[in-house]
Amino acid sequence: MKTYVYYCPVCKDFYRYDTDSPNDVPTCPDCGILTRFTGYTQEELDALTPEEKEATRQALAEKLKLSSASLEESILQELRKVSKKVSFLYGFVIALLVLWGLTVLAMIL
Ligand SMILES: [Zn+2]
Repeated sequence: MKTYVYYCPVCKDFYRYDTDSPNDVPTCPDCGILTRFTGYTQEELDALTPEEKEATRQALAEKLKLSSASLEESILQELRKVSKKVSFLYGFVIALLVLWGLTVLAMIL
């Protein structure tokens, strides 16, 4: 068992968690969302100077900001794809309706 250090992107703070594997990611005790592994154990983080700790915190915040921005971008891309499909379907339905209307008209006449 080792103490690993995790970072909460919402509280922007470090948390220590005792576990056998750093892949075992705990939720934040304050807000309940999944924390991220900092890549440090307790001893490694304690060996850092306050400046280095701050740099680590900022690097993590920046990394998480980037990953959430790219997530938004991929959601937007997905939406664009869906809206293209929807407008294609919409055109198809209109064409069918027109065709059906013409057929009915031809039968009446
Ligand atoms: Zn939190």
